[in-house]
Amino acid sequence: MGGCIFCRIVRREIPAQIDQESSQTLAFHDIHPQAPLHVLIVPKEHLSSILDLGKRHSEVLGEMVAVAQKIACREGVDQSGFRLVFNCGPDAGQAVDHLHLHLLAKRKLAWPPG
Ligand code: 5GP
Ligand code: ZN
Repeated sequence: MGGCIFCRIVRREIPAQIDQESSQTLAFHDIHPQAPLHVLIVPKEHLSSILDLGKRHSEVLGEMVAVAQKIACREGVDQSGFRLVFNCGPDAGQAVDHLHLHLLAKRKLAWPPG
């Protein structure tokens, strides 16, 4: 997926504020943060959305969640709270067609979301 913006970040072709890398994931700060802490955790492999996930992706999905947990604990929001979000498709406002897990924290997050 040559033109995919998140693939390009994974390949370090365009800059991003990278938080950490694991064997199958990259975590970087959102360019338009919606909360004081807003990190995107993406698989290095191009997957368009949650709909692309199959049984063989259980490991990478687990790794994405583990990275989110690690960042939340490191940032001290494990007790105050945080939100993990996968947007999928137009009604959810998915703007980048490369699977990504949003980690949002450090402010009170409304529910239900808009
Ligand atoms: P979505 O709406 O698809 O769930 O979220 C896409 C997110 O990617 C948005 O929050 C948007 O701000 C972020 N984003 C889009 N382009 C870039 C970029 O080039 N760099 C970074 N770091 N974030 C981006
Ligand atoms: Zn991609």
